[in-house]
Amino acid sequence: MTEALRSKVRRRANSCCEYCFAQESLSHDPFSAEHIIPSVKGGKDELDNLAWSCLGCNFHKFTATTAIDLISEEMVDLFHPRQDTWGDHFRWSEDTTHLIGLTAKGRATIGRLKLNREGLLNLRRVLSEAGVHPPSV
Ligand SMILES: [Zn+2]
Repeated sequence: MTEALRSKVRRRANSCCEYCFAQESLSHDPFSAEHIIPSVKGGKDELDNLAWSCLGCNFHKFTATTAIDLISEEMVDLFHPRQDTWGDHFRWSEDTTHLIGLTAKGRATIGRLKLNREGLLNLRRVLSEAGVHPPSV
């Protein structure tokens, strides 16, 4: 992947993880351009198949494109940052620390990528108190 392509993905995402919405400048995680459809499943190095992602989300997603929604018990596609609208599938809890899944896809993505993992909750709490979370993207 070229540095120019990586920079485009980063800029498009306003330097936020497109899954957990961590802000790169306020995170200790390294971020990278993640393949939404993994290379091993034929995903290409193209803007439409790349999402800016923190290390934690990238690690938990790994090569998955589907996951089980624990409420409907159905295997569903994971949230696709290029094809899906974030607000259709997720919202913030009232205190903005937790992501809440509004759909099977949202819930399955939260589960698979562990979008409410402890480190993120703590970071969101602190950043919220500082008035810089959630990011306006
Ligand atoms: Zn993330």
